[in-house]
Amino acid sequence: MEPELNTNGIIYLDSHATTPVHPEVLEAMLPYFKEHFGNASSSDHIHGVIAARAVETAREQVASTINAEPKEIIFTSGATESDNLAIFGVVPYHLAKGKHIITSTIEHKAIMECCEYFEQLGGEVTYLDVNTNGVIDYSELESSIKENTVLVSLFAANNEVGSIHDLKKIGDICKNKGVVFHTDAVQLFGRQAIDVREMNIGLMSLSAHKIYGPKGVGALFVRKRRPRVQLTQIIRGGGQEFGLRSGTLNVPGIVGFGKAVELICTNIDERTKELVVARDYLWQELKTAFPKIELNGSLENRLPHNLNIYFPDIDAKLIIQLLRKKLSISAGSACTTDVVKPSHVISKMYDDENRAFQSIRIGLSDTISQESINIIKSTIELNLLSISNNI
Ligand code: PLP
Repeated sequence: MEPELNTNGIIYLDSHATTPVHPEVLEAMLPYFKEHFGNASSSDHIHGVIAARAVETAREQVASTINAEPKEIIFTSGATESDNLAIFGVVPYHLAKGKHIITSTIEHKAIMECCEYFEQLGGEVTYLDVNTNGVIDYSELESSIKENTVLVSLFAANNEVGSIHDLKKIGDICKNKGVVFHTDAVQLFGRQAIDVREMNIGLMSLSAHKIYGPKGVGALFVRKRRPRVQLTQIIRGGGQEFGLRSGTLNVPGIVGFGKAVELICTNIDERTKELVVARDYLWQELKTAFPKIELNGSLENRLPHNLNIYFPDIDAKLIIQLLRKKLSISAGSACTTDVVKPSHVISKMYDDENRAFQSIRIGLSDTISQESINIIKSTIELNLLSISNNI
């Protein structure tokens, strides 16, 4: 993986927001900005053909890692668009059956906003509660599916607390009930193997920039057989991407995405094990130094590079401010950090807005060194003890 990238000696701990582009990804992309600049739809000449071939290679790279077929991968501008396509693409197709969607209360904004807008348009949405481990009750999901349910959309791993859903369990429930299962797998992809066939996933959103690929490119897996998931395009135009997503393809971005997928899906188990050791060590050290802190979510069922820590009675913004000369940490989702609102994820998990204002998220980079872990630990200890010795 990409060697640890620290800017001006500041350790980057916000890998759920984005990751740096891996040098090999950049190298793979560069020719497609220069000599191979063709439009992938220009099939009449060699420039177009070279670009189209590169896109097809990337499609195969993405498909093969999730046990999909290349034609089941639709390239998009990122997971926000993939989530929008999943929701607003599926619903119009199934109007005869109904307009009921099931999701959870702690989805990413890209899902939440779509669901809320869908309700304004007259749709019906069931928001499943999660427990303090940040997962839904699977039997509640089963009993919430009705005759008119057309889509279940549930995250694979949460972007704030890193909790992981049992995708196979959800997929089996949806299959038995004949409902399309969409999962936003942005955060889980590359950290745990995902098999769309075995897990009965119908639609799956992915993003390149969370796995050391470029920003502005992602994909939606759309199942083509047993059963075929039918959906309609939401961006109309030239009919690219099998008529499901019009617009000139971002060839360098797609090439970079393919390369990033190939790299992140190599040695998942080994990398994950090392990350878990580093993360758990950091957590134990911090807990020893500050006995009152708590983990949001469980230590076991969470992404290997995630910690989300509650510091009772200490404002998260103050912590981040104190640490920012040494550590880049955030309070939560990058999409909501401009707005001074508590994280809906932690508020819903604990039914406590204050807890949300007093929690920070740590997203370790995949190649974090033990030396960096020690610096993180001592920096947090030193700075927090300067403001309170009662944590
Ligand atoms: N879904 C999840 C779970 C995410 O973490 C993010 C990014 O923060 C997105 C969707 C949006 O992805 P993109 O930035 O590719 O639009």
